[in-house]
Amino acid sequence: MNYRKSLIGSLIAFVVATSCCWLPVLLISIGGGSTLFGISNGLEKFSGIFMTIGIGFLGFGIYQYKNKKEMSINKEAILQSTITCPKCGHKKEETMPTNACQYFYECENCKKVLKPTGNDCCVYCSYGTIACPPIQLDQNCC
Ligand SMILES: [Zn+2]
Repeated sequence: MNYRKSLIGSLIAFVVATSCCWLPVLLISIGGGSTLFGISNGLEKFSGIFMTIGIGFLGFGIYQYKNKKEMSINKEAILQSTITCPKCGHKKEETMPTNACQYFYECENCKKVLKPTGNDCCVYCSYGTIACPPIQLDQNCC
């Protein structure tokens, strides 16, 4: 929505929302008669609906914004994982690659080359404290 449109929109909303106040005066001035109160009451309800819709949209907008923010936080995977060697129990903190899976890992202590176990896609999923980034982000692993 561009500036001009939103200005006109808010102007219309303002006129509609306040019509319950100025319309009776207008009708009195032109001699509205006995139907005056009925119309006024109806419009009062109408403006209430408009306000409710407006507040609803505002709340929805805030909710959407919050949701988006939370999603972007969740999208950031933890890249630090501590690998524990199954042979000698040596622990080493490693930074995981985000674009590829590490299939082999050589223990710097006993020089054993680790490979993923079972259905795991990489050594971090098998021996690390934290699963690899694609698994964290619920994506298909290489
Ligand atoms: Zn080892």
